[in-house]
Amino acid sequence: MGSEKQLQDEKILILDFGGQYKQLIGRRVREEHVYCEIKPCTMPFEEIRDGRYAGIILTGGPDSVYADGSRQADARLLSLGIPVLGICYGAQWVAHTDGGRVDAAGVPEYGKTETTFAVDSPLFEGMPEESVVWMSHNDQINALGEGYVSIAHSAHCPVAAFANEEKQFYGMQFHPEVEHTEQGRNILHNFLYRVCGVKGTWQMDTFIQHTVATLKEQLAGKKALCAFSGGVDSSVAALLVHQAIGQDLTCVFVDHGMLRKDEADTVEQVFKETFGLNLIRVDASERYLDLLKGVTDPEQKRKIIGEQFIRVFEEEAQKIGAVDVLVQGTIYPDVIESGVGGAVIKSHHNVGGLPEHVAFTDLVEPLRALFKDEVRAVGTKLGIPDDLVWRQPFPGPGLAVRIIGEITREKIRIVQEADAIWRDEVKKAGLARDIGQYFAVLTNVATVGVMGDARTYDRIIGLRAVTTNDFMTAEWARIPYDVLDCASNRIVNEVDGVSRVVYDITSKPPATIEWE
Ligand code: GLN
Repeated sequence: MGSEKQLQDEKILILDFGGQYKQLIGRRVREEHVYCEIKPCTMPFEEIRDGRYAGIILTGGPDSVYADGSRQADARLLSLGIPVLGICYGAQWVAHTDGGRVDAAGVPEYGKTETTFAVDSPLFEGMPEESVVWMSHNDQINALGEGYVSIAHSAHCPVAAFANEEKQFYGMQFHPEVEHTEQGRNILHNFLYRVCGVKGTWQMDTFIQHTVATLKEQLAGKKALCAFSGGVDSSVAALLVHQAIGQDLTCVFVDHGMLRKDEADTVEQVFKETFGLNLIRVDASERYLDLLKGVTDPEQKRKIIGEQFIRVFEEEAQKIGAVDVLVQGTIYPDVIESGVGGAVIKSHHNVGGLPEHVAFTDLVEPLRALFKDEVRAVGTKLGIPDDLVWRQPFPGPGLAVRIIGEITREKIRIVQEADAIWRDEVKKAGLARDIGQYFAVLTNVATVGVMGDARTYDRIIGLRAVTTNDFMTAEWARIPYDVLDCASNRIVNEVDGVSRVVYDITSKPPATIEWE
């Protein structure tokens, strides 16, 4: 019952050869207002043929295309008359499969590389002749099949891009989807609009209209229940369903008491009062604290909180009685990462962790086809305030994994207050949208301090801020010293129980973004 089946009059297929950037390619295509689907390279030929795709993009990948056991797609896709854009391994695959030759490169290229382009190619229209691209390859294309020409080169790579104008096949050794490729967006735009001839019909307004209209039809006369976490995904999903069936949707908001400062109140107020959602807030904080008493192991904390969430939700659902459908805020990356039709990377809670004892016959996931930035755009269009739409990702177990060691009410207060100050300072400095995630952690360590000439022995707050594109890797954010200074001063002065503030300067990998 997802919305994936809509707006498919114009869509691009992205075939994944195991590359790191498949999601990034997908987001770039969507940013150009074109719908796309990401599928494993082993997608059956019949499905590709019958999918009415306007174009096919082949991703990069770790294999060497000439090696035994390397990932392969069905070569018949090259006979469909559909434009193809191969990126890195994808380009190598096209060359290798259609009469060319790929070998280990004499000089592998990694990182930013000056490249010269044949700007008379439709792919490079409007571009300067020279620009910097981002390379990452060990192999290279040494010969091209009939009908193919090289349309770009770098110092060490004779075929940095190729074209077969007649077949409308293009390939590039570099990655147009990453920021470091200066003309990357231009190239993808040209492929979509000049080569595939799309019109750009993928718009969030139309998405909302279609989705609400479809939900109205699907859910007519039915009762729906939503596990409302207060996060962006579940609230946007709930609002869409609310627009379709109004009070026939009940949202159960399980408040475990470990949300950010004032967050539960704000969420309740906005969605209940402003939007008129039929929202039940369950204060389960006592119960959670009891269960978490003495628990210090992070995995144990996560487990207890996850299980309890479902338990509380089930209890509330039982009070409400029979419902027909369960609404979930699953988004496209959850679908891809859960390996629906591809390799299993991790099972995501939204896909795997359905409550077992709630009687419902159907599942509604209105955001199943959307990336996070699209969910935010939909949220904004639906009128959710910026502060809520642009909140950072927040772990399901909440502040429990930002308090090292045992959790107590007092420690929750400390981390909430410190975190609120940190977020406030980052926001005041105008850095909020550039930094992927930033939060405070309450460490388990106390140190000696001096306040008003008296000795103190209080805890250390750790501040974390990272910049990231995809949350797979992250850099610690180079926050100006003045901002750090201000935050540190305010935290030791305003938050009782803190005597020292430290800033985490570790990237991911090797560290994770969260501390637990
Ligand atoms: N494995 C191939 C190479 O090393 C392709 C790399 C890629 O797609 N980034 O050349």
